[in-house]
Amino acid sequence: MTSEQERVLRDMERYAAAHHVPIIWENAREAFLGVVREVRPHRVLEIGTAIGYSTLLIALNSADDVQITSLEFNEERHRLAQSYIERAGMSNHVNLLLGDAGELLMRLDGTYDFVFIDAAKGQYVDYLQKVMPLLASNGVIAADNVLFRGYVRSDEKPPRRFKTIVKRLRMYLELVTKPPFQTEILENGDGLAVTRRKL
Ligand code: SAM
Repeated sequence: MTSEQERVLRDMERYAAAHHVPIIWENAREAFLGVVREVRPHRVLEIGTAIGYSTLLIALNSADDVQITSLEFNEERHRLAQSYIERAGMSNHVNLLLGDAGELLMRLDGTYDFVFIDAAKGQYVDYLQKVMPLLASNGVIAADNVLFRGYVRSDEKPPRRFKTIVKRLRMYLELVTKPPFQTEILENGDGLAVTRRKL
């Protein structure tokens, strides 16, 4: 990593903190990067770019020829992500698409060996269904926030405003923990589900 790329990452962290942009939690980053480095993907699909922080982390820890497609529907975040990725000199490796992920996913083709799901928490099941035809046979899906502040595995009732999200994340975990999938949940941060298809 160059010193400019380091600076871009620090600037993004500061921007996210100052403007309340949710980026991958600090205590989950190493575990997340461990998965990326293990897969060393060539083709990545990211659902939920925000300002491009995880996009840049993935780009810097994947195969040298990596191509990342990342989806975001917030125009300002999409534009910021573009400028950070450009500053980091990684534009040739990253294709940022602006629009609703549920719709954009239907228009993608080719296959991806690493998929990072990190957009609307209530839509993970829909994303999974749309991602399946795009997943390489040995592909890996990482989904962030699956334990959602501890509520997903707790018997305690979640606050009303989180009820649907918690219910839907439970449905997502139920799906990915049975055949044809195999899933490990890394509990660092807000819970990262790492899913592989059983061959
Ligand atoms: N992956 C980023 C990181 O760690 O740096 C953080 C992504 S943030 C948790 C989730 C992002 O998904 C937000 O910027 C939000 O605007 C975007 N988002 C939510 N629902 C979406 C949808 N239906 N389509 C596209 N983007 C969506």
